[in-house]
Amino acid sequence: MMVSITFDVEHDCPPYLTTMRGMEEGLPKLLDLMAEKRVRATFFFTAEMARRFPELVRRVIDEGHELGSHNYNHERLDKLTREEGEKAIEKSLKVLRKFGDVVSFRAPNLQFPNYYYDILSKNGILVDSSKATYKGYRGGVRFFGDVLEVPASTTSSVIRLPWRIQRIIHGRLREPRVYFAHPWEFVPMQREKIRWDCRFNTGDQAISLLGRLIDH
Ligand SMILES: [Zn+2]
Repeated sequence: MMVSITFDVEHDCPPYLTTMRGMEEGLPKLLDLMAEKRVRATFFFTAEMARRFPELVRRVIDEGHELGSHNYNHERLDKLTREEGEKAIEKSLKVLRKFGDVVSFRAPNLQFPNYYYDILSKNGILVDSSKATYKGYRGGVRFFGDVLEVPASTTSSVIRLPWRIQRIIHGRLREPRVYFAHPWEFVPMQREKIRWDCRFNTGDQAISLLGRLIDH
């Protein structure tokens, strides 16, 4: 079974919140869990979070994980012009590559018009994970030009469902299974005024459910 665990490292629940509790409390807990389970993951950072939390980027790299880009400050590429989008990606990579190699990319909100593959390729990106099977993408793992697309398998809230329900969903996913979650899901969000699916089972319950998924 080929499984990949990825995290989109951003401020809390964009575009609804501007806090960074996920960075302050969630990401350190996630890194502890990954170390305990001896699992390596890909962390797609926005450059803005890397700039504000450089010690967490260094921890990600030192503990053997992959650093990827989640654009500069979570700008949605479908809402920018091609030129603006290209500039944001370039600016993001400039910041992130001060920490180490970056060859992977995931677009904010998984909104990724196909002409961006060329832009990624020009900027030395080899792997993209901006498409999602649950958003209707059916191409599987394949190349677009020089860039290998490795689509996400499920939306992030799936890994917070009660275990007896999510286990049925996992069994139906095709290989490779590519999971993703965000640091802010691992701090309690129940009191925030955000969509229900962004709130349920957040905090320590999410940590223990992710641990269970890794064991599974
Ligand atoms: Zn995101």
